[in-house]
Amino acid sequence: MAANALISRIKALTAFRALFISLLLCASFLFKIEYLGSPHPKLISFFIIILYSLTIIYSLFIGRVKNFFLFGYTQLILDVLAEISFIYITGGIESLFSFTLILTVLSSSIVLNKRAGYVIASLSSILYGTLLDLQFYQMLPVGYEGIATEKQFLFNIFMHIIAFYSTAYLAGYLSHSLEKTVRKLEEKDSHLKDLEFFNTKVIESLPSGLFTTDVNGHVLVFNHAAEVITGINKENAIGNAITDALPFLSLPPENGRYEKILPANSDSEKIVGITISDLRDSNGNETGFIGIFQDLTQIKKLEAEMQYREKWAAIGELSANIAHEIRNPLASLKGSIEMLKEGKLPEKHRERLMDIALSEMERLNNTISDFLTYSSPRHLEIQRIDLHSVLDRTLDLLKNAEQTVGITIRKDYEGQLFIHADPEKLSQVFWNLGVNAFEAMGNEGELTVSTRNNRDNAVIAFSDTGPGIAKSDIDRIFYPFFTTKEKGTGLGLAIAYRIIEEHNGRLVVASRSGIKTTFDIILNH
Ligand code: ADP
Ligand code: MG
Repeated sequence: MAANALISRIKALTAFRALFISLLLCASFLFKIEYLGSPHPKLISFFIIILYSLTIIYSLFIGRVKNFFLFGYTQLILDVLAEISFIYITGGIESLFSFTLILTVLSSSIVLNKRAGYVIASLSSILYGTLLDLQFYQMLPVGYEGIATEKQFLFNIFMHIIAFYSTAYLAGYLSHSLEKTVRKLEEKDSHLKDLEFFNTKVIESLPSGLFTTDVNGHVLVFNHAAEVITGINKENAIGNAITDALPFLSLPPENGRYEKILPANSDSEKIVGITISDLRDSNGNETGFIGIFQDLTQIKKLEAEMQYREKWAAIGELSANIAHEIRNPLASLKGSIEMLKEGKLPEKHRERLMDIALSEMERLNNTISDFLTYSSPRHLEIQRIDLHSVLDRTLDLLKNAEQTVGITIRKDYEGQLFIHADPEKLSQVFWNLGVNAFEAMGNEGELTVSTRNNRDNAVIAFSDTGPGIAKSDIDRIFYPFFTTKEKGTGLGLAIAYRIIEEHNGRLVVASRSGIKTTFDIILNH
């Protein structure tokens, strides 16, 4: 039992006693009864004075007492003694005040415990029984005119004993269960406190800034990381609008994820990533907003550095590839011209060398114009086009140019398809994909060109029955100058990719080594 609870109960007991005695006093004046036939009317007043004094003494002592349990016990035992004396002076068996003993049994169960209830019940039984016995055998100067027989005395004592013990039992039972409930409640309370402590600790230790606001955007919670990121103290933030700490927000804050610039106090700015969502109570009612934010400045800086490095690495690789592509034809050109310069060659040889020189120059020129197409593309001329007629034209040209007997072109078109695109550029893409398919299949195979009209895009698929693309190559086929062919430039797919990207579309490849290769062009309507 908590000491505080015991003290307040003892105080209540003292107050109750004082009230009871006062009522008794009032009653004796009000009714002017000669104290219920008491032989000692003066004694009653005297008795009341003693009880009052005791009450005053108790109140004075309560501040100094160390063992409150003993203090309570003493009071209760003194109460029993006082009551027995009072019963004695008000007529013993004829006294109306035997019920005060029951009150004391009740009090001891409530103030101390179940056991004290039984102790006080036993004490009351013994003293009351003794008093009545002494009265019966006329060893005390108290008469008993009305009740005379021994049986009646015994019955009275018996009834009182039963009353004392049943009171002790019932009050003990009730106070015990009350105590249990109180203890449980206290335990719950301490759990709640632990939980609250845990919550605030966790929130404070979070590495991300966290705030909550009411529905109007006034700050309720502002954790340590939030202070560090914004440079604003919790004391200044709480109660004020969240826009004081995070000026880029609107009031009330809008849900969603943002990346914003926080003007810092010093000359540097901070990039802040923030997510805001509704805060709801356990009934699902909106009570405000919660925001979590991080300082992304460092990460963004690293990211920019990485991109910069990657860009330079790509430029380096590209330059090396260009140099390589130019050097090869130049080398054979140089060789041919050197031999021609010597001049003593037969006519037949000279012509051959001239042819080689010319075709190498042609190759060089083609590579450079391809590269220019890739690197500095012409402006798009978007118009509404009939996709199938553009496809047909390109495929006819392809069939004539390649003239491979063993290869068939199968068309699998879906209805009529109009899209917005640059027809010249698109036929360049179809051409590049078609040429690749023909080159991959060699002497025989089938190129299937199919179209599909989806709700918000059109898909054109080039599917061939060639050898497919090796897994190790598939990530690189769209890089400029990547080629697995002896005379390839490695620019066909790079250009196609670039054109489709300019159309805000996508070019994707699906290929399985040895089976087939499909390129899907996905264009928005
Ligand atoms: P190039 O045709 O000059 O080699 P591309 O950019 O057109 O350059 O193609 C790059 C590489 O992608 C080719 O060398 C080839 O290895 C691979 N490739 C492209 N299309 C196909 C295909 N239909 N089947 C198999 N491999 C392909
Ligand atoms: Mg090609």
